[in-house]
Amino acid sequence: MVMLGGLILVSQLFWLRLLYFPVVILMTAFYGMTTVVPVSFLVPFLSLRSLLSGGTLAPDAAFAASLVLTAAISSAITDRLRSQREKAISSLDEIKDNARSIALEEGMESLSSDEIMSHYFASLLRTDEEIREMLLTVKQAVFADSVSLLVPQGNGFALRCTTEEKEGIIISDRGVIYDCVRGRKIVASGDIAEKKIEPGYIKDGKIASIIAVPVTEGTVTAGVLAVDSARFQAFSETEKNTAKMFGEHIARVLERERIYMRIKRDTFGLKMLTEESSSLVSSLNIAVIVKNLCEGAEKIAPCRVFFFLSEGDEFSLIYHTGTPSPEGTLFTLKGTLVDMAVENRQHIYLSDVTTYKVPVMPFKTGDVGSVFTIPMFYENNLLGLLVMLSENKGFLDTFQTDMMKVMCNQASTSIANAKLHAAIEKMATTDGLTGLFNHRVFQERLAEEFRRMNRFADPVSLLLTDIDYFKKVNDTYGHPVGDVVLKDVSRTIGQTIRNIDIAARYGGEEFAVILPGAGGEGARNIAERLRKAVMDKTFSSDGRSFRVTVSIGIATSPADAANKEELIEKADQALYHAKHNGRNQSMLWSSIK
Ligand code: GH3
Ligand code: MG
Ligand code: MG
Repeated sequence: MVMLGGLILVSQLFWLRLLYFPVVILMTAFYGMTTVVPVSFLVPFLSLRSLLSGGTLAPDAAFAASLVLTAAISSAITDRLRSQREKAISSLDEIKDNARSIALEEGMESLSSDEIMSHYFASLLRTDEEIREMLLTVKQAVFADSVSLLVPQGNGFALRCTTEEKEGIIISDRGVIYDCVRGRKIVASGDIAEKKIEPGYIKDGKIASIIAVPVTEGTVTAGVLAVDSARFQAFSETEKNTAKMFGEHIARVLERERIYMRIKRDTFGLKMLTEESSSLVSSLNIAVIVKNLCEGAEKIAPCRVFFFLSEGDEFSLIYHTGTPSPEGTLFTLKGTLVDMAVENRQHIYLSDVTTYKVPVMPFKTGDVGSVFTIPMFYENNLLGLLVMLSENKGFLDTFQTDMMKVMCNQASTSIANAKLHAAIEKMATTDGLTGLFNHRVFQERLAEEFRRMNRFADPVSLLLTDIDYFKKVNDTYGHPVGDVVLKDVSRTIGQTIRNIDIAARYGGEEFAVILPGAGGEGARNIAERLRKAVMDKTFSSDGRSFRVTVSIGIATSPADAANKEELIEKADQALYHAKHNGRNQSMLWSSIK
């Protein structure tokens, strides 16, 4: 500004003075009043020369004053605009915070902020207030004493909204409002007291005239608009038409409310469905899949959930909520209500089972009002059965049953996948003939035991078992009989060892047993038990009976061997000695002379 003054003096371009005021306003916006006002005072002193040479002070002082005034006004305007903007920003933040806290209360924490905002504004549609205002308008428009909106509830009506005190109105079980709904048309009367007609509700004041307007959404009755007055013949055709018009308005408000609730529910439902479905596909463990499915079912509707896994013609209960806890886990469903779903091969929803004589489940369930049963199929194979029980009648609606169908469909695929995965894994780890672990698993598990032993300083022993003169069995009775013997010896091994022991087919007619935690003596005891158990078995073929014996080599770590290979080697040496020492015996490597 001062520079502009200087420029005017130097260049003698006095029209530049016109720019003083715009520059002052601009500077105020940037630097504020405290800077610009003192500077404005300086501007007239640029023409100090003309002051000193006898020029008059008054015009320059007036000019300075007008500059200061301009700066002050501009600054006030700028400050105001600034504070308004800040206020707007903070109130928007407040709205957002409000919206977020409402959304959190309703469990919408993971929705985007846009969705939360729209939800907030939608929730501001306070339907009740809106309807009440309409009722007040009707009351004034038709000179009524009171106007109420009654909505269906059970077999009768409930008071949704009224221009009176809510407690002052009591709904009866017959009268004009019922006739109005039944006939689906406006019912009006101006002398109901004389004709002894019942209005359908009573209130503190007298009712002489009434108009009842059906509030309908398509073919559904959403309510009745009841307009009354204590005056005889209070309403003419005009009032009836006004009430009818408002009845239509109210129908639209109720419809919007219903649609909003529906959309809100659908949104939550779909959100939940997406979350639950993805949890269903994230596991290859049947127990985990079933648990996720059942927990999802409980979220869809409060109820008791049971899951049966199909095992041939029977069912094992692998998940259940609520008491009483059934005894045992294998059930036949024949003769129960839930068996209907299995027989018909499709879901069944029984919304009222209170009059059924057939038991719902194969065990006691307590009071049951309704049942939803979904048999789960995959490519025509029954995988299992989900049962939802509620004490209440009609605990599910179509939306909920649809959600359950989608979830069960998803779960069926996941369970089938898990079964397939388990079957493939079993094939890859077990020996086809004997069902014992194969050689690969034996090597892996032994390595694992060595890792464990290094951590916990616990011993591990190994038995190498070989059937004596097995070639002779094959030669005498044939290879298939040899196979039977192999299977039987394997079964005997399985029955003799402890749960924590690991038995594998080492190769041909040789078996390996890993004994975690067992030292030499413990291992020898198990080996002897096994040897005797095999020896006691009798086989028969073509009417001839025979027995087989086994020789067992035993080695122990860390006493006999420092690593896995050494342990196998030592057990093999012990086996060799057992064979050469006469067979049908077990031998510890440490006892070899
Ligand atoms: P030893 O007491 O010295 O062990 O005598 P052995 O006859 O058992 O001798 P060896 O261990 O060498 O013989 C193993 C035999 O086991 C040879 C093979 O034909 C037979 N064999 C290996 N695998 C199978 C199988 O899967 N089924 C049948 N039936 N026989 C098998
Ligand atoms: Mg052999
Ligand atoms: Mg042999």
